This record gives sequence, C-alpha cells and structure tokens, in this order.
Amino acid sequence: MSAGTAADYIARAERVLPGGASGSWRSYDMQVIERAHGAHVWTAAGQRYLDFILAWGTVVVGHCDPRVNSAVADAVAICDITTIGPQRGEVELAERIAAVMPSAESVAFCLSGTEATLHAVQLGRAATGRQKLLKFHGSYHGWHDMLAVGVRAAPGREDRVGLNTPESPGIHVGAAADVIVLPWNDRAALDDCFAAHGGELAAAFCEPYVQSYGCTAAEPGFLERLRDLCTRHGVPLVFDEVKTAFRHHLGGYQAICGVTPDITAFSKALANGFSVGGLAGRRDLMERFRAGHAAGAVMDGTSNASPYVMAAGAATFDILADGGIERLHALGARMREGLRREIADSGVEASVSGIGGSWALYMRATPPRNYAEALSQDSGRMVEYNQQLRARRILEPLVALADRRLSVATTEDDVDEALAAAGEALRAVA
Ligand code: PMP
Repeated sequence: MSAGTAADYIARAERVLPGGASGSWRSYDMQVIERAHGAHVWTAAGQRYLDFILAWGTVVVGHCDPRVNSAVADAVAICDITTIGPQRGEVELAERIAAVMPSAESVAFCLSGTEATLHAVQLGRAATGRQKLLKFHGSYHGWHDMLAVGVRAAPGREDRVGLNTPESPGIHVGAAADVIVLPWNDRAALDDCFAAHGGELAAAFCEPYVQSYGCTAAEPGFLERLRDLCTRHGVPLVFDEVKTAFRHHLGGYQAICGVTPDITAFSKALANGFSVGGLAGRRDLMERFRAGHAAGAVMDGTSNASPYVMAAGAATFDILADGGIERLHALGARMREGLRREIADSGVEASVSGIGGSWALYMRATPPRNYAEALSQDSGRMVEYNQQLRARRILEPLVALADRRLSVATTEDDVDEALAAAGEALRAVA
C-alpha cells in the first residue's frame, strides 16, 4: 500500500468505524500498521518503527513469533472445542500458573483483562455478601461500570479524573457510587477507609505495581498494610496483574514483592497477543464458580480457554521461562540507565521509573508516587517529546502518561538506537 492509499484507507475507516477505529485509544493514534515482526512494525506507507507499545503489553516475546504461531497452528488443526469440559491445554496451562504464582491455588481463563476484573468483582460480592469496592486513583481495571471510576480510560479526558468521577457518561452512577477511590501510597487514607468502611467492602482492587499512569511502585509497607487490613476485615484482596503477570515474573509481581492476594486478575502477556484473561486465587473463593455452588458466582464465556489460545500461552510461557524474563529485565535496565544519562546530558527536568522490561519517563524532577503527582508533570512537553520520538521512527504512546515496554525480540542495538533518538528528542524539547 502506498502513502496515498494509506490515506484512502483512513478515509474509508472514518466512514465505517466510529472515529475511524474500534476503540477510543485506537482512533486517537491513526497509524495503519500492516506488518509486524519481532521488535518492529511497518506502516502501510512502508515505514519501519521500533515498537515500544507492543499492543499495550500483550506482545511479550516479540511480534508474530514463529514458535508461538506454529503452536497455535498445530492446535487449531486438532481441536476447536470450547464450552464442554476441560481441554488438555487448559489443564496444563492452569497447572503451570499454579506452580509459580503464589495466589494461584485454582485458575480459570476468560478472554480479556476487563472480563477478569469483572469476574473478580462478582466473586468478591458473592463471597462476602457486601457491595462496596475499594480501588486506587488512576488505576485502570478494564472497561466495565463497576470499576470505571477515578480513572482516565481514554486520551483527552485528563480533566475528568477526580477521585470519584465516573469515567464517562454511560457509566451507571449507582455502580460508581459503590466504589471508594483512594490516592495510591496514602497510608493514612487507607487506614481511615478501613476504619469507616472495612465491614462493607466486597473486594479491594489494586495494581500491586501501578502501570496505568507510567510505572509507580508501592512504597515500603503499603502493600503489606493493605494485605493486613483486608485480612482483618474479611475483604478479598484482588491484585490486578493484567500488566505485570508473566512479564516481570512468571509468578506475577506478587512473586517479587512477597505479598499474596486472595485473587489475581491476569491477561496481557500470557499468550503473546492472543486474547486471554483469567483469575487465579484461593481455592475456597474460586470454587464458587463451580456449577451448582449454593452461594456461587458465575463465570461464563463461550470462547473461554480456546485450545489455540492455551497453546499460545504454553509456547509463550516456555520462552519466558527459558531466559526470556531475565532478558526483559536486562534490556529494561539498559534502557532506564541510558535514559537517565540522556536526561542528565540534555538538562531537561525529567525522570525515569520502571521494572523489568517496562519503563516510564515523566517531565518532572522525580517519578510520581501517585496519580495526582503524575498529572502534575509538564504534559505539553511530554507529548512533544513523544512526537519527536515518532518522527525518529520510535513507536511510543503519544499520550502524556503511559508506560512503555520492550519484548524478548528487542536487541541491545535496538535499545541503543532508541536511546540515541531519546537524546535527540530531549534536546529538541529542552
Ligand atoms: N487492568 C489493567 C491494569 C490494564 O492495564 C488493563 C488494560 N490496559 C485492563 C485491566 C483491561 O484489560 P483489557 O484491555 O484486556 O480488557
């Protein structure tokens, strides 16, 4: 497709798709990507980009990895059944997750991160008979009414992110009213919340390592305090590890931080781009999904645990277990250290945070400890920096607040190329 026809294609898209694409984030960034391989993608106009969006984190091994794709091809040639009983690949993948993830006594698969957190809400409510939910400001837990509060779910809505603001018209105000939103890393607010509402909470949700607005760790003792309060008040603690599980550690961030939730929601990095999500958790809670349980929740989904997705999961798991995770950590450290050098050389007031193969750059002197601090960066300069990177064929999110990531297919040379581009981009916005 030539440059001219790429524009035609976008014009056609604008006519038949809302905003030109299936989703608000996609219509914000109207590139036509036609090919992807390893660490790179190619636009319809034939331009090659080094990709650090990686389908928002689903691609962890590298684009179109032949080992994952051939496992998928083998699986679809043999069996395409879902909806009746277990499949071999489903049992094996659940066993592998249970062997490495501390909270995973029992595992169930669905199709996305949104579905995973939705099922976790219903499970918490079924188990406790309570209604209220706790979450933290700025953390995105998927697109359903029950948790779409105090979060920016689409670009251009930064002005709408008060603690208790439902993200958009269309969200059920009653559902939003049942959510208590706290600032991340605020221990006093956490204590006050449990003192006032501990007995009303059906579940407490957090990203144990926040990647909804860059990369923000919990301060020492914060997760331990949350765990302790949940235990004392009988509140199921849900770790949303949609971004962190399998990417930073096969056992999830919980295997790094040493705090074990009651339920874990996982998704993105498990199947290298094939659609999967799931819950892992305490057996007594998860058993409520068993058909006929007297006080059960229901987990349903016609396409859950498709054999081809489970095959993608197993192949991805193999690659990550066979040195892939270590490689992500080593390359990520090279990126973060290099970015800090480039920032110092440029004189721009900026900072870097991150973990494993993920990082965030902020146009403020220190990385933020919570969402309000993240919003206080120089976001105009941040967007300009992202555009400068785009002009240098580095594919990073164009929005002001986002994490970035690399894949096992990324090379040291790729990182160095990105660092050279980052240095130029920083000097351009200085
Ligand atoms: N939780 C977190 C932490 C996420 O980052 C996301 C997606 N970015 C979700 C849940 C929702 O996942 P999905 O887009 O697969 O529905």
